[in-house]
Amino acid sequence: MSVTVVGSLNEDVLVAVDRLPGRGETVVARSSSLAPGGKGANQAAAAGLLGPGVHMVGRVGEDPAGDRQLAALAGSRVNVRRVLRTAGTPTGSATIPVEEGSGENLIVVVPGANAALTAQDVDVPSVRDARVVLLQLEVPMAAVTAAARTARGTVVLTPAPPQPLPTELLARVDVLVPNEHELVHLAGAAPADRSPEELAALARSVSNGDVVVTLGARGALVVPGNGGPVLLQAPPPVPVVDTTGAGDCFSGALGQALARGTDLPEAVRHAVAAAALSTTGPGARGALPDEEAVELLLP
Ligand code: ATP
Repeated sequence: MSVTVVGSLNEDVLVAVDRLPGRGETVVARSSSLAPGGKGANQAAAAGLLGPGVHMVGRVGEDPAGDRQLAALAGSRVNVRRVLRTAGTPTGSATIPVEEGSGENLIVVVPGANAALTAQDVDVPSVRDARVVLLQLEVPMAAVTAAARTARGTVVLTPAPPQPLPTELLARVDVLVPNEHELVHLAGAAPADRSPEELAALARSVSNGDVVVTLGARGALVVPGNGGPVLLQAPPPVPVVDTTGAGDCFSGALGQALARGTDLPEAVRHAVAAAALSTTGPGARGALPDEEAVELLLP
């Protein structure tokens, strides 16, 4: 196997709103729909559509939502043999209001079966033998840390939702992929507008390994762990519809490129193009590209 994702599977409840509600405010939605989601499963779906050999490790409930998540992943060429069913707990869910026009979103996650993933569940050959293991933080930290310990390949961690990282986990991560908000949180810094140089300094204060900071419409910043030059990779211009899951597509594409042996700057160039394409349709998986579409977009 080339890429194994250990993480969450959720059912997304997408709610179209004219504008996002403020604190304590009620807004009336235009419509709602169900879609497959979860940071882990989104990363797996993105990687699966871009290349072969993608496996998912996680948990869903014994419910129709769980059936739907497994079917959706299998439809994105992801092997789901290691997604376990959990009795008596619903499949995780996420409610996502999306603002029409801007595509900006908010996300509220109910963990459900994701919270039942254990260290034993991830001690399996698909984690041990993968070229790249993709991790996020929507499953228990004990399972995430155990996966990093089990993996013999490259470990890529998206530190979302942001929370303190155990030293053992951070020491085993080869590529940390925070967005700006997550990086500031990990560094214990105050939110501020920061230059690429200032972000690189924050990244180096957090990790000795490679760090790739995703910067939304500005692309991604590569901060090599060996002290090499910092690179800002801007996205190609695309008609943005909905940025939900752009970060997940980014990590899935990065993992697939790294598994092919691509070096980090080139893998990031690839991931920036894939993530840009993913924003051109609705929801987290509405516009996940295949390899041909990414190659066409790259100069
Ligand atoms: P999300 O939570 O929506 O999945 P995120 O906050 O984790 O995203 P971002 O930094 O917003 O991550 O986006 C990830 C990557 O997606 C960016 O590095 C960029 O390559 C691409 N991207 C995001 N927004 C845009 C945009 N408006 N135009 C082009 N590319 C974008």
